[in-house]
Amino acid sequence: MTSSTLKRCMSPMGTEDGKRVKRDSLSKLTDKFMVVRGRLHQLSSSSPNKENVPPKESTKKRRFRVVNVEDRNYYVGALYTLTTNLGLLSETIHIAIDLLDRFLIVQPITIQWLEVVSIACIWIASKFNETQANLEKLRVKQILQQRDRKGNWSWHHVLVIECQILKRLSFRIIHPTMLSRYQRQVADGKISQLDQAHTADAHYFLDLTLLDATFHTFKPLDVLEAISFLSTKFQPDQSFDELESRLREPITRFFFLHLKIQQELLDGNKLHKALHCKHGDMMSTTWQLKAANIECACRLCAVPAVA
Ligand SMILES: [Zn+2]
Repeated sequence: MTSSTLKRCMSPMGTEDGKRVKRDSLSKLTDKFMVVRGRLHQLSSSSPNKENVPPKESTKKRRFRVVNVEDRNYYVGALYTLTTNLGLLSETIHIAIDLLDRFLIVQPITIQWLEVVSIACIWIASKFNETQANLEKLRVKQILQQRDRKGNWSWHHVLVIECQILKRLSFRIIHPTMLSRYQRQVADGKISQLDQAHTADAHYFLDLTLLDATFHTFKPLDVLEAISFLSTKFQPDQSFDELESRLREPITRFFFLHLKIQQELLDGNKLHKALHCKHGDMMSTTWQLKAANIECACRLCAVPAVA
């Protein structure tokens, strides 16, 4: 074989092969996406011959289990950190997580798809809510693309899933989030303007609503009233007994989540570190988060605050 034939074999065919492999994996992905979903539903709702399933089969089933609330909460914690460190606007982060939650309702997915679906949601929300200049300045696409080194997906997968998400949600990206409802209430004068520390507290609680799917089970207006109470009237030694019962549950949930995250931060757990980086310094003494490791090199901490 001459060096020129070798060259021909290696370069153009290599690219073609690469394209074919990508195409194949892409079509496999889309097939899998629909088929796996259908199969999984049959498996989890009605297990045909339970006794006859060999042990290997049941391990396989666990690997392909549908995303549950714990998976969702854990992933949203990681997503919150990723998007906050990227420097995206709070609105963009709330839109991205709202897209993810709405998609998971209409299209249950298995655990191995959660990362790529989450990245697609961030990408849709970023394109929708951030300016082109900001997307470029923050290098959003490049940073999201870098994540495929850790996962078993490529950017092509993200684009395929992006179409799936938009189709399944009938292209409705605009949808009320807890943050947009809060902003509307402030604009309408239903929530009074707060000082800087109390505003930071309110925004911290708004972000907490992302991290626990339980907040979806409460009425949004009750959650907003709970946030308003916690960021203005709450006293550390206060009993929750005098509160209206509709507010007691969301308030207890916030309280529980706050204590859990505070303890994690003191233990040096980094899952919710971004909450501290974003809100920590500005919050009131009542709620201010303390972290074990004060030194942080994340994008938020590295950029000095504008005075
Ligand atoms: Zn930081």
